[in-house]
Amino acid sequence: MSKRIVVLGGSFAGMTAAIELKNKLADEVDVTVVSKAADFLFMPSMIWVPFGLRTRADIMFPLQPVFEKKGVHFVHDEAVRLDLPEKRVETKQGQKLEYDYLVIATGPKLNYAAIPGFVPEEGNVQSIFSIDAAERAKVAFDAFLENPGPVVIGGAQGTGCFGAAYEFLFNFAHQLKKHGIADKAPLTFVTAEPFLAHFGIGGFGPGTKMTEWFFKNLDITGITNVSVKEFRRGEVELSNGQVLKHAFAMFAPSFLGIDAVRACADVTTAAGFVKVKETYQTEKYPEVYAAGVAVQVDPPGPTEVPCGVPKTGYLSEEMAKVVVHNIVADIEGHPKVSLSPGAIDAKCVLDAGNTGIIMTSDHLLEPRGHAWLIPGPEAHWAKLAFEKYFLATHKRGMV
Ligand SMILES: Cc1cc2nc3c(=O)[nH]c(=O)nc-3n(C[C@H](O)[C@H](O)[C@H](O)COP(=O)(O)OP(=O)(O)OC[C@H]3O[C@@H](n4cnc5c(N)ncnc54)[C@H](O)[C@@H]3O)c2cc1C
Repeated sequence: MSKRIVVLGGSFAGMTAAIELKNKLADEVDVTVVSKAADFLFMPSMIWVPFGLRTRADIMFPLQPVFEKKGVHFVHDEAVRLDLPEKRVETKQGQKLEYDYLVIATGPKLNYAAIPGFVPEEGNVQSIFSIDAAERAKVAFDAFLENPGPVVIGGAQGTGCFGAAYEFLFNFAHQLKKHGIADKAPLTFVTAEPFLAHFGIGGFGPGTKMTEWFFKNLDITGITNVSVKEFRRGEVELSNGQVLKHAFAMFAPSFLGIDAVRACADVTTAAGFVKVKETYQTEKYPEVYAAGVAVQVDPPGPTEVPCGVPKTGYLSEEMAKVVVHNIVADIEGHPKVSLSPGAIDAKCVLDAGNTGIIMTSDHLLEPRGHAWLIPGPEAHWAKLAFEKYFLATHKRGMV
């Protein structure tokens, strides 16, 4: 009888895991993806939505036809309860899915509740962390163009997504120049990081020097090592007592694990991320795997203000490939591989509108053999080319 594999989440980690499992094991497995979202969203392009450079149609595609083509069952529904001892997932619409293997790839719950006034719908501060929020940020940006003023962009305490905040900042600076209003809109970057380009991982090669150069060149003020106390209409209050007035603000929130996963306290941290071994299996339930943002990755060291580790799309896909290798190994009786998230290589582009920085290293975390940063317009073109390549291939189920 074929093994039943349930994959929760249909994004970078979930889509890679589901399609690779089917590619490798064909009829030996019955793969079902449960996803709260009906569509795939290419999140790296969300930095451009507020500027009208991308719409949801440009960066989203429906999951159903992709999975159907690959012979993967697709359930557009939300997992609300994971009964790990009984090997069963329950969904909001009342489905009960039994499994032999479970892959948790549910990404983050955005933790706006951690800071008063942060919920983007309240309109005190914008977000680019969901497509609805990014579209609201576009409305706010259009209004800002009519009436420009100070801009505050940042990474809130606990976030692991500093990269997106920097990209949005540099793209904002590019837009100010393009619209000829840079002199009317001073830019401030506020971050929980102890220094610029720390990224929650102690820095990345010469990234801090390069970022400082960008800040100087673009006339951006950086405020590091602070947390946000409160967002209010037109202002943000920081832990150091500063109150920054603004005509536009955008902050990256901290993440939690999604509720149904967080409820599985025997395999998760208090924040709801899945504690896995280097095989991406949980200790207590060897048939339960996790990949992507859902996985707990410990920061390499403490910081005064809490910072999360960046869990990028590339890292999420690489984790999913290890999960696939190990489920195949389990079914076929081969040895499993172990690869901690920190030992996975890093590949990323930090876009700045018409230039940027290509970042690559052999390991995400120290010790690294190399961490290279290549600044210049080719970084921007690389991001554009990668977006097109990624969307074209993934729409066809090529992961
Ligand atoms: C603005 C922005 C810019 C970024 N830029 C880059 C970049 O340039 N390069 C890069 O590598 N990474 C970038 N990232 C990070 C990248 O998007 C994430 O690493 C990636 O999305 C993580 O993939 P994932 O599959 O782990 O989780 P997610 O992409 O968050 O997907 C989670 C999936 O789980 C589903 N789900 C959630 N809850 C449930 C539930 N209860 N039941 C069923 N399904 C559920 C969701 O619908 C979704 O399908 C960026 C992120 C943002 C927000």
